[in-house]
Amino acid sequence: MPLLEVKNLRTYYITRAGPVRAVDGVSFFVEKGEVFGLAGESGCGKTTAGLSILRLLPRYGRIVGGEIIFDGVNILEVRESVFRRKYRWKRISMVFQGAMNALNPVFRVGEQIAEAIMLHENVSKEEAMKRVKALFEKVGIEPSRVDNYPHEFSGGMRQRAMIALALACNPELVIADEPTTALDVVIQGQILDLLRKLREELDLSVILITHDLSTIAELCNRVGIMYAGKLVECADVRSIFKDPLHPYTQGLINAIPSITGPKTRLRSIPGAPPDLLNPPRGCRFHPRCPYATEKCRREEPAYIEVRRGHWVACHMVA
Ligand code: SF4
Repeated sequence: MPLLEVKNLRTYYITRAGPVRAVDGVSFFVEKGEVFGLAGESGCGKTTAGLSILRLLPRYGRIVGGEIIFDGVNILEVRESVFRRKYRWKRISMVFQGAMNALNPVFRVGEQIAEAIMLHENVSKEEAMKRVKALFEKVGIEPSRVDNYPHEFSGGMRQRAMIALALACNPELVIADEPTTALDVVIQGQILDLLRKLREELDLSVILITHDLSTIAELCNRVGIMYAGKLVECADVRSIFKDPLHPYTQGLINAIPSITGPKTRLRSIPGAPPDLLNPPRGCRFHPRCPYATEKCRREEPAYIEVRRGHWVACHMVA
């Protein structure tokens, strides 16, 4: 049984103009100890899917359908007080997007992490601070820096501190939302190495949310490609990069610059993702797809397993 199974998840943002279908019928699973990537352009619903798992949506966000099964329990049916005590942060945690600014500037970094530990576990402040020092060591920060304020940390150190915060209560699943964005390339590499090492040491499962396919290639076992609130393709990383089947995935991969092949112009995907308040009928990718037919404009393609472990939603493939 996978550690996490997301089944037909639908999360909408309720606006005056109508519901924005940010996640619209998404299904995937995460095995114990694997890194599962969720990739796609900005606004495709990746972060909303992650926030739905932690039930941390903004006020106007609603999970309107589907199931999220974690370790055999549909966590959407768990009462908020129980979810807060037993699941959020304790078993499932998150490295938030924009972690660079997520630490409170007026509190010491160590104090902020200790508070998260004390909130979920019955431990004294001394014990919590001891654990924070051990966590700092684990993520590569000198433990004596626990009394520093966020402005005394570099960008890479703040990101490491955010990873320490996510690991504070020994979770089984960590959702890392764009954990390397806004860091320079050298620090990005260090953070990816750290995530890889922690995953192995702690036997963690990770959902890595990113628009950066090279990060996916470096770290993930399997990847789901999202477009306009839907999962359009999902497979192991090797299959996705060697033999992408969905035209959107092919477009994303063609847009990655190669440093070894001949110099060519980068090919971007023409157009922009649709407005999810009024998504196009049929296949949501049809206005940008070079292979679109009348059927694509009319009928939504089913999301089916075309090869063992390889799912695609495209009329051309099915
Ligand atoms: Fe393109 Fe049609 Fe496939 Fe959609 S269903 S990706 S429009 S070929």
